[in-house]
Amino acid sequence: MNEFKFINELVKTLEIKDKDVLVGFGDDCAVVNCGGKKLLFTNDILVENRHFIKSKISGRDLGWKLVSVNVSDVVSSGGFPRWANISIAISKEDIEYIKDIYLGIKEALDFYKFSVIGGNTSSSEKLILDFFLVGETDRYITRDNAKAGEKVFISDYLGLSRAGLELLLMNKDRYEDFELKLIKYHTRPVARIDLVNLLKESASSCIDISDGLAGDLGHISRLSRKRIVIEENKLPIHPLLKMYCEKYNKNPIDYILYGGEDYQLAFTSSKDIGNCFEIGYIEEGEGVYLKTECGNTKLKDIGFSHI
Ligand SMILES: [Mg+2]
Repeated sequence: MNEFKFINELVKTLEIKDKDVLVGFGDDCAVVNCGGKKLLFTNDILVENRHFIKSKISGRDLGWKLVSVNVSDVVSSGGFPRWANISIAISKEDIEYIKDIYLGIKEALDFYKFSVIGGNTSSSEKLILDFFLVGETDRYITRDNAKAGEKVFISDYLGLSRAGLELLLMNKDRYEDFELKLIKYHTRPVARIDLVNLLKESASSCIDISDGLAGDLGHISRLSRKRIVIEENKLPIHPLLKMYCEKYNKNPIDYILYGGEDYQLAFTSSKDIGNCFEIGYIEEGEGVYLKTECGNTKLKDIGFSHI
């Protein structure tokens, strides 16, 4: 079953009647008007063996990642993180691992500069972590406001996290230095909190790239009712990804378009943005297209499906 269709069906049963809710389900964050400020709400759940495997990621890295993936949603909505709650379900065997997770969480809170202020705990056979984050902004950015004639940007190189995940799953006895660096992109993503002010000034729409560029731009395309054209020759290939693809005989463009969990940002703007990569443009129409020397190909609108 398609995750997004299923969620849409569930959401229909919960009608939002509060006029202070500016954005409800379906964006990176929900947005609520609160006194003149806009509060941003997001949460992410990590389930053992679904989103992570304990033997493949240290507790410390997992704690860092749990915070970062939520901060990334607040950042892509144009805000700064403020307060969070954390809920955990654990078994007795998880106690040492969860202590490490909290060290990673603390490290991330110091880096992103906000606080966890509450939470809940339960026992469970599988380790489950849910992080609920409230952010704040004076100008929020959604997925539904891209306009024809604008340019499409990404905040940095993509595809590295996917390569890192594949390397982890190879279970190698020894990894080359460049491979260890790629693994770190997977286990220690950094949310682009440094770009919040730039986004607020310049972006008409934005999404963080959690499920893959093609799928995530598909959300902007669908909600903005516009066509997005990605120019293949403008997609930047990171030297580490190039090394990986040469060694393992892979196509880097696949990693850039479909590799998830980079937690970089894709956004649209009419301006020139110096420190980001311009990779395409917006037209009237629908769908996400890849423009190559051989013409335009419609990309499959597939994000990573969790169910
Ligand atoms: Mg997101």
